[in-house]
Amino acid sequence: MLLTIQPHECLRSFLERHFFLDPESPESIRFRKISTYDMRGSSIQLIAEVLGRGDTYGFNRLLHDHTSYSQVAVFPGSNQKSYARSDYQSRGVRFITEHQLPGICVQCVKDDIVQLGFPYWRRDHRYVKVCSKHNTLLLRKCPICAKDINIHGYAYGHDLLWKGCGGRYIHQCESKINYDGWQLVLSEIFTEIGESKLTVDLEFVTEHIAAEINRQSDCGLISETKKNALKHRLDMSKRIAETGNNYRPDLKYSEYIIYVIAIVYGSFASLLDSVLAVGGPVRNVNDLMHVKY
Ligand SMILES: [Zn+2]
Ligand SMILES: [Zn+2]
Repeated sequence: MLLTIQPHECLRSFLERHFFLDPESPESIRFRKISTYDMRGSSIQLIAEVLGRGDTYGFNRLLHDHTSYSQVAVFPGSNQKSYARSDYQSRGVRFITEHQLPGICVQCVKDDIVQLGFPYWRRDHRYVKVCSKHNTLLLRKCPICAKDINIHGYAYGHDLLWKGCGGRYIHQCESKINYDGWQLVLSEIFTEIGESKLTVDLEFVTEHIAAEINRQSDCGLISETKKNALKHRLDMSKRIAETGNNYRPDLKYSEYIIYVIAIVYGSFASLLDSVLAVGGPVRNVNDLMHVKY
């Protein structure tokens, strides 16, 4: 039986739900060809085909909504016509690895049980420390037995959500509130970028932010030390355009731009507003997704 992929469900979760519910179904048999450690472009293409959207748009839609590639794609090059940078179009590129540990928000799991009857793993929770929806700490250890989730069971512990542990289930546990406001802001910006319907060209946006850093410094809003730290991170953000090493979640330079946006603008929406106010190069993500190269 083909299951419905859930909003921002990570692709690994989608596969593992098939294996858990019916390991012998035709879909499970096809998905078994995919490595349990990494997911390359060819694997994402296979998932798109099983979902009946094996075209360019269907592939890019999966990348944008269900992998962290959206963090890169929202900052395209000015000459880029397609959703993915050309070097990432190779089907051998690794878009996801289990090096990036999955995280659990107990409150999301509780909500899932009420709304869907089953929980699922979220894409964003691999890359941040706090759930941006509930302001709760994301768990990398089982809340029942304290074992690291990635060694908790088969396929890096993904069946914990459905199998439970020692007769108990995650939705029966208590969530932990986060008191670190900075981590919440970083997580919120990560979510905003991942859900953005607009892109802004990387070259333009880094110049635009640099001008705002200078303005805030001239007004005395930020110190010289802070200004230099921000400029350094902004320079590192330009490496989003580097495709030489192929995309890997553990090599993502968007962490730097998220840090800068958090301090200078407070949110991705405020940055976009300031870009739109000066008529900057903002494009629709959906339009780019239809273009092959
Ligand atoms: Zn949550
Ligand atoms: Zn456990």
